[in-house]
Amino acid sequence: MSEQSKFDIVIVGGGSAGIATAASLLKRQYWLNIAIIEPKDEHFYQPGWTMVGGGIFSSEETIRPEASVMPDDVTWIKDAVATFDPDNNNTTLERGDTISYNHMVVAPGLKLNFDAVEGLEDAIGKNGVTSNYVRESAPYTWQCVQNFKGGKAIFTQPPLPFKCAGAPQKAMYLSCNEWEKKGILKDADVEFCNAGPALFGVAEYILPLMEFVVRYGANLSFGKNLIKVDGENQVATFAVTDADGNVTNVEEKFDILHVCPPQCSLDFVKNSPLAAETGFMAVDINTLQSTKYENIFGAGDIVATLNAKTAAAARKQAVVVAENLLAHKDGKDLPSLYEGYGSCPLTVTKDRIILAEFGYGGKIMPTFPKWVNNTLKATKFAWVLKADVLPWVYWNCMLKGREWFAGSAKKDAGHH
Ligand SMILES: Cc1cc2nc3c(=O)[nH]c(=O)nc-3n(C[C@H](O)[C@H](O)[C@H](O)COP(=O)(O)OP(=O)(O)OC[C@H]3O[C@@H](n4cnc5c(N)ncnc54)[C@H](O)[C@@H]3O)c2cc1C
Repeated sequence: MSEQSKFDIVIVGGGSAGIATAASLLKRQYWLNIAIIEPKDEHFYQPGWTMVGGGIFSSEETIRPEASVMPDDVTWIKDAVATFDPDNNNTTLERGDTISYNHMVVAPGLKLNFDAVEGLEDAIGKNGVTSNYVRESAPYTWQCVQNFKGGKAIFTQPPLPFKCAGAPQKAMYLSCNEWEKKGILKDADVEFCNAGPALFGVAEYILPLMEFVVRYGANLSFGKNLIKVDGENQVATFAVTDADGNVTNVEEKFDILHVCPPQCSLDFVKNSPLAAETGFMAVDINTLQSTKYENIFGAGDIVATLNAKTAAAARKQAVVVAENLLAHKDGKDLPSLYEGYGSCPLTVTKDRIILAEFGYGGKIMPTFPKWVNNTLKATKFAWVLKADVLPWVYWNCMLKGREWFAGSAKKDAGHH
């Protein structure tokens, strides 16, 4: 590690939000002395994992060396943060060093909470149990889909919060589309087991999505939460809540079980002074400034905001954090506002996508005018965007400070 232990800005996490924020900061003030604390050697383009599970991308396409995405002028501290000491502007690393900062950006993502489902962690990757949320297992989803000869296929969705609100159902649509093409969909008993009460959080999208639920003959179950997986015997146990709030446990046999694991805050954030009651990081939902420490900002999946936790959200948040942090450094008012934008490209077939784009309160926020792409329809345009354009935009724009599709609202523009 570098000799240095004090920086203008320390960024915790070199994932989507951390790297994008560093790039946006350096674009504005290239001379900043920034450190990124990131323990992993690899950087993942997680939005690609749905496509890996659908046999469209290879796993390799979604991974690059972390060193290749680090901006040239930052110090990479290859370690994990263990604790925050925001009263003294310090963080402590797992191996014990202390790193100090004037400003900090917290962007370590979230935790897949395998402990919440008995047996899940060990079960994934064999016996038809899979998850696109786990990098090693996304290619196994595609294997399972190809090997399926009919039978019971279960797709689960946990209680909120979890990243990419649409990914659990995307896995189902892409699998069903493949079985439809092969003529075996009629032999499939497909069930979407959703712990929540609705197919999608923004009501306008439910009808367009239902068209595909009906086309594929999938059964929707609500209030049905996966609590246990017995991979060897291919049995899943669900806690089912009825209309009166009574909970009963139900066991179901499966041939394929695609799981979206429950998700929560990371322990070192949850147990820190930065946490909100939920364990996620408490921030002003528009400025993304910590509600507890003025010189700390948050971005990405870790913030306790009600947007869809997506890379698309991080793309907008990075710009807001860069602009607000630099204003704070110069003693100015925070100029930029995040309006909750997030995007969920719902892969309903292997050549069409419903590009859900929405902000706080479920407000629909389409990037494109309706004549280019109708956000409420499954379009080929959105498929090309997801399959060909967005990965390129991610690696070459978002992570490099080229802020395409990422403009933020300004306080004096009357948005607040
Ligand atoms: C299956 C799937 C499908 C998805 N589909 C889409 C989609 O279609 N569109 C979309 O926009 N988004 C999608 N997403 C969501 C998107 O990938 C995330 O919202 C995004 O990556 C969040 O960025 P982040 O930087 O907050 O977290 P991450 O990108 O996960 O990065 C967090 C980083 O912090 C590091 N870290 C963790 N702990 C520490 C620590 N203690 N100290 C230092 N560093 C630490 C991690 O190693 C990691 O590199 C999908 C995600 C999944 C899993």
